Amino acid sequence: MTKEELWQTVLSQLQFKISPANFATWLKNTHVLTKGDGSVVISVPNNFSKEWLENKYHKTILQILRSTDDSIKEAFYTVERSQPTQDPYHPLNSMGQSSSPQDSGDQLELQGVRIHKATNLNPRYVFDNFIVGPFNELAHAAAWAIVQNPGTIYNPLFVYGGVGLGKTHLLQATGNEINKEAPEKKIRYISSERFTSEVVTGIRNHTINAFRALYRDVDVLIIDDIQFLAGKEKTQEELFHTFNALHEKGKQVIFSSDRPPKAIPALEERLRSRFEGGMIADISLPDFETRMAILKVKTQERGSPVSDEICDYIASNIHRNVRELEGALNKIIAFWRLHNREPSLPDMKAMLKSVINNPNRQVTPKKILEAVSEFYDIKEKEMIASSRKREIVRPRQIAMYLFRQELKSSFPFIGKKFGGKDHTTAMYAFERISKEAQGSEMFQDELSLIRQRIYGG
Ligand code: ADP
Ligand code: MG
Repeated sequence: MTKEELWQTVLSQLQFKISPANFATWLKNTHVLTKGDGSVVISVPNNFSKEWLENKYHKTILQILRSTDDSIKEAFYTVERSQPTQDPYHPLNSMGQSSSPQDSGDQLELQGVRIHKATNLNPRYVFDNFIVGPFNELAHAAAWAIVQNPGTIYNPLFVYGGVGLGKTHLLQATGNEINKEAPEKKIRYISSERFTSEVVTGIRNHTINAFRALYRDVDVLIIDDIQFLAGKEKTQEELFHTFNALHEKGKQVIFSSDRPPKAIPALEERLRSRFEGGMIADISLPDFETRMAILKVKTQERGSPVSDEICDYIASNIHRNVRELEGALNKIIAFWRLHNREPSLPDMKAMLKSVINNPNRQVTPKKILEAVSEFYDIKEKEMIASSRKREIVRPRQIAMYLFRQELKSSFPFIGKKFGGKDHTTAMYAFERISKEAQGSEMFQDELSLIRQRIYGG
């Protein structure tokens, strides 16, 4: 069976397992890049698809692959640099450039997938290509200090910040650098979702002792996106004991999360206090100058330089995260490939139109309600209704506050929106939350993480 046939089989089965909208969104322009040695490398058009496939559909895809060809053990996803496509109507192909991924012979294309077996680290993420600015310098400095002296200074290191701001990059760079400097050290990088599923498998298959032995024997343990442990009691318990075992032996532990430990719902207190027991460093939004720097460095690096005017335009209009800046960068690279020149400002405006004027980016009451209820892991309905439970009342007040702040809603409107309450309730909520925000930087961070979700669509 050829690679093409294999992927066709997978797609035709996947089609029945996921919704048509998701299918179209995440699987468009994917294909099998290489196959062999028990593994399959799937090319995807962008980082979003890659993450989505890795996080949501990996199991299903692997299952189908294995059932189609039992020599397949693993599957990886990679974002191809040259955006190749099989589509004959695609402009790149009609120009006779890069018509198939094999043509390019670009070694770099496999960069994203050579995941190091023992450490589970992706070698693409290194300090060399990590740009430091005021928004991430604390986290960067802490990570760098750990590279010099693992297990001694900041233990654990807890890095938090919104999506696409470089947490994974920084954590993996730390692992890669330690690996380079001290190859004898055992390093293990894992997402909290994988960690959870390994605990579950361990319990189910009575292999939990092997799991424990593996994780308690490392020198550096890195767990990404720890917020997903919310409510997973068994996993939290395992992590607690693993952490203690490592910590006692002076082994380094690093965590990342989309929020500070205090704001992770349904987290055991003893674990929370462990998270807080070392160094907590946040990554905030890059400021304008840093966004310019990121664009400059990356466009240069990728051989598609653009003028200051273009960088300025992008940096002024895209401010949510580094991943979006990379999205703009990819558009520039595609443009260079197609036209062999730098895009003009009108070209750039046209290319970014859908991103910048996207109605999804405008804040709406619905978005605020969704973001707040998701953040605190409560039901939207409950927040609107009249529950007096503390875990509901506070998020409700925060949502009311955000209605006022972000939408400039009137107090009577807010009261009405929240189950027909009086305007004085809304006013009280607003004042209370404003006061709390003034008094606590920690709480301000919490609010800004929620805002990032609102504007992050
Ligand atoms: P997070 O884990 O916080 O969601 P990622 O680490 O996945 O974010 O970063 C998203 C993308 O942006 C990645 O491709 C990453 O390499 C890039 N990136 C993020 N921060 C930086 C940075 N400071 N310098 C260079 N690239 C960055
Ligand atoms: Mg990440």
